[in-house]
Amino acid sequence: MKLTDQQWQSRLTDEQFRVMRLKGTEAPYTGTLLHNQAAGTYLCACCHQPLFLSDNKFDSGCGWPSFSASLPEQVKYQKDFSHGMIRIEILCAHCDAHLGHVFEDGPKPTGQRYCVNSVSMVFTDEQLANVVSKDAPTTK
Ligand SMILES: [Zn+2]
Repeated sequence: MKLTDQQWQSRLTDEQFRVMRLKGTEAPYTGTLLHNQAAGTYLCACCHQPLFLSDNKFDSGCGWPSFSASLPEQVKYQKDFSHGMIRIEILCAHCDAHLGHVFEDGPKPTGQRYCVNSVSMVFTDEQLANVVSKDAPTTK
């Protein structure tokens, strides 16, 4: 899914645009999904593709929603040298939205901590299978 900045701007809130398209970061401990413990699926706020499952969410104490794993092939990785650090940026594999960063201090067995901005995701209490089948192309 490729849209111009202008098109994204008209679809997203100012804060979503700042974080997801301009690689910003929401203030820690402010995200609406930080303490969400409901069972379901986390979707990209830009293109609504499923990214994470509630099963993999954990409380890392870092101030952003954290996951120990993403759904396979839904997330892209890119080295980020900004702010004098070397970090691995995570992006939506479908629309290149900036999601956050992944660190190697997560819980076992993956050891990964996907640190994701709340505004980059929308939560649905639907299970993954339902979300995916709804978005699947209809037969012609
Ligand atoms: Zn996306």
